[in-house]
Amino acid sequence: MSEDTHEVYAIRYGHHARRSPENFVGGDPHDVLQPLDFYVWAIVGPSGAIIVDTGFDEAMGRRRQRELLKPVREGLAALGIAPESVENVVISHLHYDHCGNHDLFPRARYHLQDREMAYATGRCMCHQMLRMPFEVDDVVAMVRKVFTGRAAFQDGEGEIVPGVSVHHIGGHSKGLQSVRVKTRRGHVVLAADATHLYAHIDGGRVFPIVYNVAEVIEGYGTLKKLATSPRHVVPGHDPLVLARYPAAKPGLEGWVARLDAEPKDS
Ligand SMILES: [Zn+2]
Ligand SMILES: [Zn+2]
Repeated sequence: MSEDTHEVYAIRYGHHARRSPENFVGGDPHDVLQPLDFYVWAIVGPSGAIIVDTGFDEAMGRRRQRELLKPVREGLAALGIAPESVENVVISHLHYDHCGNHDLFPRARYHLQDREMAYATGRCMCHQMLRMPFEVDDVVAMVRKVFTGRAAFQDGEGEIVPGVSVHHIGGHSKGLQSVRVKTRRGHVVLAADATHLYAHIDGGRVFPIVYNVAEVIEGYGTLKKLATSPRHVVPGHDPLVLARYPAAKPGLEGWVARLDAEPKDS
């Protein structure tokens, strides 16, 4: 493996059963079961493991009525990753399902966009509709990381290590960023909530939690441009990810998938 080539894994930790009209602005005429899965991602390379997003814990799952399937720590352990050893965490955005488990990575620096921190601590949070996907304890925990020198701010594009970069997309949340990773099969893009499901990016449709609709739709083009092919874009909440990509190793089916492997439908 060359110096800037990485392995990439999706770790499923939660689930929410829902119907398709809840997943699109304007609803969905088909009204079928279309659940969301919840993931964190691990990027493994010569400089150790970089974790993308930190998920939520059991208490938050109960509070938000989302099912915690396996604690994030267990998913990392299944890959042999000790959270205590992780030095870099990328936070795609500050919604409750992406930035909980505040104390899981005691040594890590947390990379997030200037615009996301400003959004989550500024005037927009005065409005219930805009603050709904945020939890004040998550935002305060990030403020504390700023004050202990553990936040690393990004503005637009930034390199985490050679072969791994972050890219501001916005749209769904003001400072949402996606992550581009050089792998053995080309550049894989971890979209996070820049596209919740394949159906969003493929159909030009929009998830109902949104800061700026135009940025969401423009963002689909950016994701495709950053990825080696459209098949290299990995949505943030789609159960199909675990169907399309092989398990990281035997026994991890339905839990941890390897994203630098060819997807099965290719
Ligand atoms: Zn979100
Ligand atoms: Zn999300």
